Amino acid sequence: MTIPLVVGNWKMHGSQAECVSLVRDIVRLQRRKPARVQLAVAAPFTALVAVKKTLRGTTIGVAAQNCHWQESGAFTGEVSPTMLRDVGCDSVILGHSERRHIFHETDAIVAQKLDAALRNGIRVILCVGETLAERRQGRTAKVITRQLQIALKGIAKNGIDNIEIAYEPVWAIGTGQNASPVQIARVHRRIRQVLTARFGKAAGSRSRILYGGSVKPDNAAPLAITAEVGGFLVGGASLAAESFISIARCFNQS
Ligand code: PEP
Repeated sequence: MTIPLVVGNWKMHGSQAECVSLVRDIVRLQRRKPARVQLAVAAPFTALVAVKKTLRGTTIGVAAQNCHWQESGAFTGEVSPTMLRDVGCDSVILGHSERRHIFHETDAIVAQKLDAALRNGIRVILCVGETLAERRQGRTAKVITRQLQIALKGIAKNGIDNIEIAYEPVWAIGTGQNASPVQIARVHRRIRQVLTARFGKAAGSRSRILYGGSVKPDNAAPLAITAEVGGFLVGGASLAAESFISIARCFNQS
C-alpha cells in the first residue's frame, strides 16, 4: 500500500526566519511522535533554499507553489522548473484554484507547466476542483474530468507515477467549510476512473489522490479514513506545526 502524503501549502506567508522556525518545529514534533505519512512543505519561493537546508537529513519534501512552463527566457517575475530543481525542490503545486481564479490560469497553461515540471524531474501536485456554482449546477464530475484530461493530455504513460492529484473544491478552500466524506469519495472515484482510462488500471490504481479544503485537526480524522483519500493538501492549518502534524497523525489510525 502507498504511504499517504500530507503537504502544507504555506501560500504567501512567512519570512525566511519564520519558515525555518516552522519547519524546525515540524521536524521536532514529527521526531517526538511520528505521523506515518510522507510530509512535504510548499514554501514561498524566497524561503525554499533556507527550508531545504533546514530539512537536510530528514525525509520531509520541499515543494514550490507554482512554476513557469519555460526553462528560461524573457518572462519577468517568473520562476522556471529548472530553477526549482536547482534549489532542490522535489515537487511543485500546479493548478491551485488561487492560480486558476485570481491569476486566470487556464487548463492549457496548467498542462504546459505540468509537462515542463516533469521534464525537469520535479513531481507535480495537480489541483483540480469545482466552484460552488458548478457544484450547484451538477457539473462537478464534468469540470474535474475536463481539468484532468487537458492537464494530462501530453503525459507519457509512466508520467503519472510522478503526479499526485489533489481534489480541492474551490468553495472549501480557506472557507472553513470542508467537503463531506461522501462528496470527497464520489469525486475521488471519478478521478480514479479518469486516471485508469488514461494510464491503465495498474498505474491508475496506485496513484495517490489527496483532498484539500479547510482540513483542520478537528475535522481531519473522518476525512483520513474516507475511501480513496491518499493524503491531504493543507493550507491555513499548515502554518502551525502542531496543527499540521496532528492532521497528519490522523492517518496513523487508518
Ligand atoms: C489550499 O490552499 O490548498 C487549502 C487547502 O487551503 P485551506 O486548507 O486553508 O482551505
